[in-house]
Amino acid sequence: MTIQQARTLTRSAFFLLFLLAPLLDIFRFDLTLGHFILFGQAWTLDISDILAGDSVDAAIRIFTRMLLPLIAFIAITMLLIWKYGRIYCGWLCPHFSVVEMFNTLMLKQLNRVTVWEKPFKPSQGIYPKIIVALPSILMAFVWAVGLLSYLLPPKPLLNDLIQANLSFGATLFISVATLIFSFDFIFTRHVFCKYGCALGLFQSLIWMANKRAMVIKFDRQRAKICRSCSANTPDKPCDAACPMRLPTRNMKRAKFTCTQCGQCIAACSKVQQHNPQGSLLHWVSGEQAVEVDRPANIIATKEIK
Ligand code: SF4
Ligand code: SF4
Repeated sequence: MTIQQARTLTRSAFFLLFLLAPLLDIFRFDLTLGHFILFGQAWTLDISDILAGDSVDAAIRIFTRMLLPLIAFIAITMLLIWKYGRIYCGWLCPHFSVVEMFNTLMLKQLNRVTVWEKPFKPSQGIYPKIIVALPSILMAFVWAVGLLSYLLPPKPLLNDLIQANLSFGATLFISVATLIFSFDFIFTRHVFCKYGCALGLFQSLIWMANKRAMVIKFDRQRAKICRSCSANTPDKPCDAACPMRLPTRNMKRAKFTCTQCGQCIAACSKVQQHNPQGSLLHWVSGEQAVEVDRPANIIATKEIK
């Protein structure tokens, strides 16, 4: 299995989990009951019951039920981000899956990855725009209903939706959320990942603090090869493949929002498939990763443009 196939598997599984978790009672907050549901069980501290008993027992129960799982989750998550960067974004995040999905669709229909870039050739007529807009709005609607099912009992909600019998509040939520997500998916999807997502920013900051963390490294010794490397787009294949629109061969700080998706490596591996030395881009960590943020790397990238 290739890296990209593995990533398709993890992203698809997580996307399904994101949509189906409330329906299967895996995780949701039930507004009507006022507590979380976790794996079919009410997840509540039940403070009154705890406080009525022995105080040592109460402290132990609060620590083991709430604090310990929370501390363990935060510690493991931070360690993974420290070592591997934004792997949640590249390998799991449902929003990043949408980014990649609509990048591909837009490139195919409108000859550009985002509306903010120039098409490498003009698209013909209105149909390519409709083919991009309709799935984006449909996906936005699915997200809106999916998010509401985290707050309201999912089965009655879906029932009401099918019978066109939604309450005013649910209709308003779904309409507004569909509008916002449609705008995001069509116009600002990768911009949101870069600048709007607190979870993404949090991961980037931890990752940047570790100079030895896993990062994409460009093989500067073989940089001349890039001069003859071309694609059907104005960008080099590695840069054209980057869902976050980053300068993939540049130093680490220029790739602050890298999601470790490996698309740039896959693109270069394809271009260099007949080269015994293979791709010029690799994942490295430790001492080699420190090299990636040396200013000399930025000069090398300019030279090979
Ligand atoms: S630089 Fe490479 S690994 Fe990072 S987001 Fe872009 S394509 Fe993915
Ligand atoms: S795809 Fe590989 S060879 Fe082509 S420009 Fe990018 S790094 Fe250089």
